Amino acid sequence: MTRTGRSVLVTGGNRGIGLAIARDLAAQGDRVAVTHHSSGAPPGLYGVACDITDPEAVSRLFEKVAAEQGPVEVLVANAGITRDALLLSMADDDVDAVLDTNLRAVIRLAKHASRGMLAERWGRLVLVSSSAAFTGSPGQTNYAAAKAGLVGMARSLAWELGSRGITVNVVAPGLIDTDMTRDLSDTRREQFLSRTPLGRPGRAEEVAAAVRFLASAEAGYVTGAVLPVGGGLGMGI
Ligand code: NDP
Repeated sequence: MTRTGRSVLVTGGNRGIGLAIARDLAAQGDRVAVTHHSSGAPPGLYGVACDITDPEAVSRLFEKVAAEQGPVEVLVANAGITRDALLLSMADDDVDAVLDTNLRAVIRLAKHASRGMLAERWGRLVLVSSSAAFTGSPGQTNYAAAKAGLVGMARSLAWELGSRGITVNVVAPGLIDTDMTRDLSDTRREQFLSRTPLGRPGRAEEVAAAVRFLASAEAGYVTGAVLPVGGGLGMGI
């Protein structure tokens, strides 16, 4: 069954990859809510101020979205941060912040979202991981660990929710041009591109296209999958 006007929630949908995903889904007729945390809400989308590491704020987020556009049918867990440092100089706070935002919060979000989906016996969970989960990345022990954790999480949840028509999938972007990667040194950027067969950074819209597919009715037999969107970076790993 093809659903129209689905209730979608995109965390971190106020800028970068999340905004491209939110706009893409809104353009096909979904009702899309986005979270915003340190920056404002984008025009034309329903924005909810929310720090996803705050359990009460996340409860309020789901209440607000349900009141505005109905229980969440598609969750795109996109919000994420980096706090890069080599491990010996990585502060505990940097480990905690990255694990809390990029992994722990996603488990919390999935728990809230899946309640409504179970009642509806339909749902789509799409988690935004990273090629770093598979290739590893010096200076990103915290980040790669959290992003790899999403894969185990998704596959466990795929088992738990599969019989109820709910799919759980992961996209793993490579180097994408956003605020997150704008400050990379030329050397680091070259390192990424030299390992990227397509030889260029990706665009947020190219990640959005992959998410659109995983969130679609047509992807109903795809679950527990990891879809790389990295121009071939880390392929085959
Ligand atoms: P940006 O830095 O451009 O945006 C990050 C987003 O996450 C913002 O919307 C931000 O909201 C939100 N966010 C961060 N912390 C919180 C929080 N505690 N509560 C709510 N929202 C929060 O990143 P990108 O768009 O580049 O990245 C999006 C996702 O893609 C991330 O998960 C990232 O790890 C992943 N990714 C990105 C790659 C890239 O090359 N860019 C490569 C691989 C993966 P606000 O603006 O309000 O602070």
